[in-house]
Amino acid sequence: MVGLGIAGMAAAIGLRQAGWTPVVVERAAARRRGGYFVGLMPDGRRAAEELGVARHLHVRNPPDEAQAWELDRQGGRAPGLGFLDQPGRPAAVLRGDIEEALWRTLAEGRHPPDVRFATTCTAIDDDGDRAEVLLDHAGHRYRETFDLVVGADGLRSGVRRAVFGDGHLTRWGAMICAFELPDQVPAFHPQDSVVSARPGRAAWVFAFADRPPTALLTWRTRDAGRPADRQAGVARVRDAFAGMDDAVVRHVLTGLEQAPEHLLDSVHQVRMPRWSSGRVVLVGDAAWCLTLYSGHGASTALRGGAALGRALREHPEDLGAALTVWEAGLRPAVRSHQRVARLKQQLFVPSGPVAAAARRGILRLGAASRARRSQSAA
Ligand SMILES: Cc1cc2nc3c(=O)[nH]c(=O)nc-3n(C[C@H](O)[C@H](O)[C@H](O)COP(=O)(O)OP(=O)(O)OC[C@H]3O[C@@H](n4cnc5c(N)ncnc54)[C@H](O)[C@@H]3O)c2cc1C
Repeated sequence: MVGLGIAGMAAAIGLRQAGWTPVVVERAAARRRGGYFVGLMPDGRRAAEELGVARHLHVRNPPDEAQAWELDRQGGRAPGLGFLDQPGRPAAVLRGDIEEALWRTLAEGRHPPDVRFATTCTAIDDDGDRAEVLLDHAGHRYRETFDLVVGADGLRSGVRRAVFGDGHLTRWGAMICAFELPDQVPAFHPQDSVVSARPGRAAWVFAFADRPPTALLTWRTRDAGRPADRQAGVARVRDAFAGMDDAVVRHVLTGLEQAPEHLLDSVHQVRMPRWSSGRVVLVGDAAWCLTLYSGHGASTALRGGAALGRALREHPEDLGAALTVWEAGLRPAVRSHQRVARLKQQLFVPSGPVAAAARRGILRLGAASRARRSQSAA
């Protein structure tokens, strides 16, 4: 297993359920914590149940009466629709909450998991019977052979590049910056979510029941390269939001300056005709990155790991058949999420004035229908 993110840990648990003994290598020196808001969808929650992870998952949904607000150009607020108002009642968590639940589940096995931090996979030689992997731990290189190599190393997967070549990343002409805020936007209730969206750029504040909110800034740009360092990154975000001077953007940009860490990246989808080759298989963002706009990446990463374990259990003697069945089962959902992500992107960050007006209309209707539902429930 290459990568100790959601996809890597889910696949490790799935493999263990199928009787395998996973070894995980992770480039980082230690496990990540915290992160950004993730809404876990019903299929992700079902996969978490199947993996035995759900009971460790700390869910942080604000109470039902919490409100989602949209800011207008004058800084006024109107009821809006938040991420959690989507059908299926997504579970509000931090990425780190899912990783923590997966980690605790992994640690419950009969043997402690073999997880090697500060270790990368630098080459793979698959002779059909076994895959020989060249590993690098802080400059010390060694070879080891495995029955299966699972590339769970994210959007810019090295396993994908080594085995399947380049050219699988599609460009979306957009950037994201996500981080934890120390507190809520002034004058808003701590458990309310707030969005300020203009053509081409948007600031989102996601609230939780029991901790300060997280922020997401996203904007459309032709220059979607990644800045060299933190300072250049913050300057880049400030530039992108120059002139958008409302309470949300001001608060979020100040929060960015203070945040101990942030994620700043360009937006891409991964499109591949096949997710496995011989004894190498890709899972999660490495295989099918849906983009954050789909709101299904974490759910599908969990689902992929659970399904991989199931396929290996059902085809214990035939790896090729297991991988074929696994991919056939998962691909329709991935294809659909990848398509819908383009539409959802317009809700996250409208491409221009027409899309922004359409978005406002959709949100107004949605918010009115939400209000009617709450009144009839009361
Ligand atoms: C801002 C934002 C909001 C999101 N919101 C949602 C949401 O609401 N709902 C949802 O379902 N999804 C959401 N997603 C998507 C979801 O977070 C991802 O799809 C999911 O976390 C991907 O997990 P992964 O394990 O595939 O990849 P990653 O999380 O990228 O993990 C890859 C791991 O591999 C390691 N690694 C990389 N290269 C190497 C190497 N060479 N050797 C060893 N290790 C390596 C990395 O250090 C990392 O630990 C969001 C994403 C973002 C960015």
